[in-house]
Amino acid sequence: MDKNISTNLISPLKVIRGEGALNQGAKKIPNISRRPILIGRSEWTKELRHSIKTEIEKEGVIVTGLDLEFDCCEIDLNRIEKIALDLNCDGVIAAGGGKVLDAGKLIANRINLPSITIPTSAATCAGWTALSNIYSCEGKFVEDKKLTSCPELLIFDHEIVRTAPPRTLASGVADGLAKWYEASLASSSSNDGMVQQAVQMARVLRDQLFLNSRKAFSDPYSQEWITVAEGCALTAGLIGGIGGAKCRTAAAHPIHNGLTQLKFKQKPLHGEIVCFGILVQLALEESSEGNQLAKQARLQLNHLIKDLKLPSKLEDLHLTETSNDSLLEACKFACKEDSDIHKIPFTVQEKELLKALRINGLDPSEISLINKQGSI
Ligand SMILES: [Zn+2]
Repeated sequence: MDKNISTNLISPLKVIRGEGALNQGAKKIPNISRRPILIGRSEWTKELRHSIKTEIEKEGVIVTGLDLEFDCCEIDLNRIEKIALDLNCDGVIAAGGGKVLDAGKLIANRINLPSITIPTSAATCAGWTALSNIYSCEGKFVEDKKLTSCPELLIFDHEIVRTAPPRTLASGVADGLAKWYEASLASSSSNDGMVQQAVQMARVLRDQLFLNSRKAFSDPYSQEWITVAEGCALTAGLIGGIGGAKCRTAAAHPIHNGLTQLKFKQKPLHGEIVCFGILVQLALEESSEGNQLAKQARLQLNHLIKDLKLPSKLEDLHLTETSNDSLLEACKFACKEDSDIHKIPFTVQEKELLKALRINGLDPSEISLINKQGSI
């Protein structure tokens, strides 16, 4: 492929957002699909999915509801794909969290059908993007898949998203913040104007999340809540769309991917692991390059993380198995040859990463200690 040619899949064809957006969005569905499947997963969204189905059926559309059993994993994907083909359906609607949305988009892409996403939380920007992450049935990250298009329609109904547990919004804030910390590092030497513009958009998003997240949590009916929820679920996706593959991830997401290989007592949300990954990334910048801005960023971020009850230490992630050996396995996964972690402007080896994971107290003096002693 010509090195000068980039393909950008920037956004869904149509985004309908706001209070009661489902009602407006449902009216657009007959133009896209007349016999869609509607996929979802959790017990928590069961009733919600039933009312979504009813709302769409009012428009004369025949909807078949199907439940996923796992995260976005091949067994489920193959099973649902087969059912969708047997039913001769002509579209895929996914209503749920990031992994459900990823599954819906990927199934639609594989069988060449249009996809419609209805996020039930603001935990990720999966409703927006032309990317899906595949996990094993046990929830271990396997790989991400580039899709051939973004969804045809994204319905972001504030009424629906507001019913999600506050923890999902916190997770979304961390995932949204990661756009800045990762894109600004991975793309720091890019001379591509669109990548630079995407990185600046990530900075504005970071500022908005810093300014508005606390208020968003205390008052879900505030303008701040809307700014934060839409920032996490929509703008974060737009940044990935404009910046393309060159400005997506640096170390925080590869660290997430590595940590999902471990056994958890209680499975954290995607953004919760990414949150810890951002802190580790900043610690790496600090210890590898003596970067004082990274130190400041880590301290500043730590205040917000505490207020939003996000994890900042390995223990906060409820890891049952935190022996050095298993952590080293996670680091090996994060540092695989094709990992985005190698996009950052300094070298990260698995042993250095292991040290950075172990910096639990987030006290800057500990990091300078690592620099001096080379171990922890
Ligand atoms: Zn993410």
